[in-house]
Formats: sequence, C-alpha cells, structure tokens
Amino acid sequence: MKLVGGVETGGSWCVCAVGSCTGSITVSGRWPTTSPQETLSRIVEFFRRAPQVPVIGVGSFGPVDLDPHSPTWGEVLVTPKPGWSHASVGRVLERELGVKVLLETDVAAAALGEQRWGAGEGIASLAYMTVGTGIGVGLLLHDQPWHGITHPEVGHMRVPHDLSQDPFPGVCPYHGDCLEGLACGPALAARWGRPAEQLEPEHPAWALEAQYIAAGLANVIFAVAPERIILGGGVTAQPRLLSLVREDLEALLGNYLQSPALDHGLTHYLVAPALGEKAGVLGAIALACRDTEQRPGSGEALPALSEPSAR
Ligand code: ZN
Repeated sequence: MKLVGGVETGGSWCVCAVGSCTGSITVSGRWPTTSPQETLSRIVEFFRRAPQVPVIGVGSFGPVDLDPHSPTWGEVLVTPKPGWSHASVGRVLERELGVKVLLETDVAAAALGEQRWGAGEGIASLAYMTVGTGIGVGLLLHDQPWHGITHPEVGHMRVPHDLSQDPFPGVCPYHGDCLEGLACGPALAARWGRPAEQLEPEHPAWALEAQYIAAGLANVIFAVAPERIILGGGVTAQPRLLSLVREDLEALLGNYLQSPALDHGLTHYLVAPALGEKAGVLGAIALACRDTEQRPGSGEALPALSEPSAR
C-alpha cells in the first residue's frame, strides 16, 4: 500500500500523519503550534521516524505563498502570528526531508479532505468555511483549489455591521470589523467576555454570530456559486449555530438563485464537516495523493484534464 505524508499547520495545533490514499492513517502526531523553528523541527523529526514517503502534502495557515514559480514559494507571508512572517515551511521540509512537498492553505486542504472522504464526496465545486481562531474559506472549483494573485481571503470580506445593534469594533488587526474581526472565536470572547464554548445556547451571541456568518456565506454563494458548503471550526461546536445560519442564509438569498441544490431549509446545501478534527491532515494527505495519482505509471489515474483543441 502506497503511503504519503500530510501536515496541517494550524493557528493553534500542528498535526502530522502518514497514511494511504484510501484515507487510513498509519501513524500521526499532534502538538501546539509554537515558534516556526520548534514547530518545523518537530515536523521533520516526525517524518524521519515515520515510514518513508515520497511526497508530503501541507495545509498551512495563511497567508502563504502558493505560487510554484515564486522565489518565496512555501513561505508564510506577513502574519500577526509572532515569528511566522516569512517562515519557509515548504522549502525547509523539502531540504530537510528530501521529498516533494505540496502546499495549500489549511482550509483548502480541509476542503480536499472533505471532498475525498467526508461531507463533500462527489462535489466538484465546494466551499469549506472554518470559524475558529480565524475565519477562512477553502474554495474548490472544478476539483481544484482556487488561486488568483494569491489564495482567497474570504474571512476578511466586509459584511454589514450595524453599530447600533453591535457596537463591538472587531478584532482584525488589519481591518477591524471585517467578517473575521466580527465573528471569529477571539471576537466572540472579546465582545461577550467569555469564550464561545462558555456561551449558553440561548445567549444572544449566537443569533448575531449566525447573522455575520450567513452574510459571509451569501457573498460566497453570489460570487462563486459552490455546489455545497461545509461549515466547520471550533466556534461551530455550538449545535444551535448551524440551523441559525441556515435560516439567515436562506433569507439573505431571497429565493433569487434557482437550483435544486438549494433545498428548502438548506439542510443538504449547508452542512457540518464529516471528518471533524482530522479534516485538515486528511486533506493534506489527499493533496499528496492527487500528486501521486497524476504521475504517469503511478497506478490509479485521475481522468486527464481536457486540453484546448488545436486550431
Ligand atoms: Zn480582516
């Protein structure tokens, strides 16, 4: 059985695993994300002790340079996370382990994992939103993680902010009251004086939270029309939240889009993740598997991408 490696460097936790392209994990490790030096040397140490793999997929917190032609490919770009600006995750792992390294954002990796083994199976254009330490959205369009000049930063989009209803200024160091600034876990803790997991289901925090998340998701739907959306992350551990977001989102869509995918109540359209905490590292493994499957003579082949016809 062919094995590949997967790494999820999240804002709070780093997870490494070796597994197969059927989604089974052979060995894994998990520790808090600390300084880049310490975190990267633990990753290197993990793979030196683990069964050998030819390729490692990495889902990294962003912003991160994903352009394979860029001299700074694999670097975390300017980030408020102490010490991580310009940390070269991709190159360090390539150099220290002598393997091919493939990189995506943590949210795009989670989307790939859910698409392959979870709540997005069979869905070619999929959005995965995480609401936790930050807010991020991984967008798969026709099975590919979407990149433009950079990867999308949906968490930093603007959403309506009625200061008379919610005078909280937001926590984003760049934008104040962007979606992440208003609705990430640290925003909830700062606004209400208690972390999200301590806010009871009836607390008004949840109706407001649902309103912001639904506004963000409506924008995602109107911009890229994904076939399904998965809503995960630590803040969504509150079981009431998903149904509140569905209600608000359906109201915001206003019956404008006509698609059988948008079922009444959005219960099949906006769903919880199926892979839980493993989505990120399984997604990193899925990223590595896609590479091995695309190489000629590597066994199970992906359908060839259609080439533009010659004229
Ligand atoms: Zn922001």
